[in-house]
Amino acid sequence: MSRFWSSIVHTLTPYVAGEQPAMHNLVKLNTNENPYGPSPRALAAIAAETTEALRLYPDPTALKLREAIAKSHGLAANNVFVGNGSDEVLAHVFQALLKHDRPLLFPDVTYSFFPTFCNLYGISFREVPLDDAMAVRISDYRQECGAIVLPNPNAPTGTALPLAEIETLIAEHPDQVVVIDEAYVDFGAESAIALVARYPNLLVTQTFSKSRGLAGLRVGFAIGQPPLIEALNRVKDSFNSYPLDRLAIAGAVAAWEDKEWFEEKLAKVIATRDNLSAALRELQFEVLPSSANLLFARHATLPGAEITAQLRSRAILIRHFPKPRIHDYLRISIGTDDECAKLLSGLADVIAFLER
Ligand SMILES: *Cc1c(COP(=O)(O)O)cnc(C)c1O
Repeated sequence: MSRFWSSIVHTLTPYVAGEQPAMHNLVKLNTNENPYGPSPRALAAIAAETTEALRLYPDPTALKLREAIAKSHGLAANNVFVGNGSDEVLAHVFQALLKHDRPLLFPDVTYSFFPTFCNLYGISFREVPLDDAMAVRISDYRQECGAIVLPNPNAPTGTALPLAEIETLIAEHPDQVVVIDEAYVDFGAESAIALVARYPNLLVTQTFSKSRGLAGLRVGFAIGQPPLIEALNRVKDSFNSYPLDRLAIAGAVAAWEDKEWFEEKLAKVIATRDNLSAALRELQFEVLPSSANLLFARHATLPGAEITAQLRSRAILIRHFPKPRIHDYLRISIGTDDECAKLLSGLADVIAFLER
């Protein structure tokens, strides 16, 4: 606390990111990074861009990247907004499109940045409980609201809705913006981008951080009809004209174009996830069905906080949220087969220790 702070700073409850400790031999399964890293073509493009031209500002509109993304969806560059990670894109979305007199709706268990943004921008919101299977039930969103934001697959649960249900949600709210946060969509859900041409109220966000292994480059994007994109540009150009630097633009374009690397690594992550899910069930975990690069699971008897702490003391990091409804769940990012094997032996050890 300081008397020098603006009054809003006293009221903020900042998002807490998963830790990035500098520990040796760490098995790091806590922030949903991609164990296989970026396409070698992205690294080559970043190296090639590392020249004296860095003295010049980048293209403020990142047109090359927006065109590459638009083209693969049969859309135009003015359907695409890019930003410094999808967290920044989402921040602009909250400010530009989700602040209305009636409350914004999102699930009670979801990406914890959502209430943080609401707090920052003074947006009123109402949390809609997940059903007993920890899934989103779209009929629960049939209520007065100013807008809706929903990850699909949801975070941190990893469960996905079929596209037909997402479409029903969008069609049932023609006068509200519906934002679908597709940070994990590539790992097994259906994207709503195919609906953008038909629904002026739909905005979809995605990121290069998870499926493209580029969390360190900070690139995310939103796709929607031009009036929604224009709102985002108005906020962005009142905030930071150059959210993507030259290296980020070059690396993201090359990563986007390397479809082979992308598909191959996705298949590996998905196979590892499904094996890990089966192995966790054998260790008496209840595992939610996942369409993401993570599993959300709870043990039949042991508390989530203790399992997490015991794993940490064995240099295995996973994520635990000390929140109502989910405090006994573990969120486990999908690593390599080797990392997941280490997690499983660590877990067997921890369970034996805690059940003593
Ligand atoms: C990881 C994540 C993001 C943000 O990713 P960036 O790294 O900022 O692009 C957004 N939404 C959800 C649900 C996420 O899990």
